[in-house]
Amino acid sequence: MQLRWGAHTDTGKVRQQNEDALLAEAGLFAVADGMGGHNAGEVASALAVTTLKTGLREGIATSDVLRNLVQQANSVIYTASLDDSTQVGMGTTLTAVAVVPEGDGHILVANVGDSRTYLLRNGEMRCVTTDHSYVQELVNEGVITADDARTHPRRNIVTRALGIDRNVTVDVQSLRVERGDRLMLCSDGLVDEVTDADIADVLRMHPIPNEAAQTLVHAANAAGGRDNTTVVVIDVVGDDIDISGDSTRPFVTPLQDDATPAAIAVPEAKKKRSRVLISLSVIVVVAIVAIGLSVLGMYARSGYFIGEKDGVVVVYRGRPGGVLWFKPTISAVSEVSVEDLPPDVVSDVESERTFSSSLTAQKFLQFLESVPTTTTTSTTTTSTSSTTKTTVP
Ligand code: MG
Repeated sequence: MQLRWGAHTDTGKVRQQNEDALLAEAGLFAVADGMGGHNAGEVASALAVTTLKTGLREGIATSDVLRNLVQQANSVIYTASLDDSTQVGMGTTLTAVAVVPEGDGHILVANVGDSRTYLLRNGEMRCVTTDHSYVQELVNEGVITADDARTHPRRNIVTRALGIDRNVTVDVQSLRVERGDRLMLCSDGLVDEVTDADIADVLRMHPIPNEAAQTLVHAANAAGGRDNTTVVVIDVVGDDIDISGDSTRPFVTPLQDDATPAAIAVPEAKKKRSRVLISLSVIVVVAIVAIGLSVLGMYARSGYFIGEKDGVVVVYRGRPGGVLWFKPTISAVSEVSVEDLPPDVVSDVESERTFSSSLTAQKFLQFLESVPTTTTTSTTTTSTSSTTKTTVP
């Protein structure tokens, strides 16, 4: 299969940074649209395309290989978000096109989220992918039309993205392409600003892929450019390359006339709109963790117990042995030496007898200070000890 391609990406007119990333190399093309604060979206989209690119080494021969690659990208982003508090909740959409080696004219199309792949054939354009978004669900249910979805106030809510959960479901389909077909991958910055009819017009009017990609991005900016916009255009110009039996040869021959500058993985920084659904998920998770830690901390600090420190009896606040990283702290120090206490009282200290309040612990400490030392008779000691213990809850 012989391809020619071009690509273009732009920050737009409103955002400060470009959090889209693209990949356009022989046999593998992708657009990723990152999300997350502190530039984390840029990290997520870059991780997605760089992970995907590792598939070029072995070739992407089946749907499962492509699906596994995308799921691997999901794991890489998810793990990175756990390792860095500034990247919690980062994620990215992804649409990818892979040319199947020896695929008899077939390509694979994957998508997660609302980045799209279109096919222009014989002048007619159709969207190959189905968005994983709130408005797409409304369209599916017949609540709104596809045209309404383009301007719906909640059009930016995605229901699936890479990096948000440990696992992700990836839509992968096989598509037979023909000479003359044109594929177009894009982030939602394009489709939110430019109608499908206008996109199709541009694709029909600009035969050079790089020009078509640039014109589409310019059209999005001219319409407002409220988001980052990324476009990859791929033309199927021939099917005369036979790669059988030679794994070292590229399975796609690029015609580099117009493709080179943009046809490289370009994960560029840009700021992207917040995605309400995912932000809410992060807030809920953080709130649950915070409440859990707060309850744990309260429990860990809720009691008192008697113990020993440097040979002297002390009152600790907390739980004997501590709870996780909540260690007991010294609440009161007596002047009673443990070695001077009679054996039965020593056992109270050694067993770290617990109390429900500071007051009862203090009373017990006062009792210890009143206990005759082991130099007095054992009878007296036992009696005093026994009587006083009953007053301590
Ligand atoms: Mg976007």
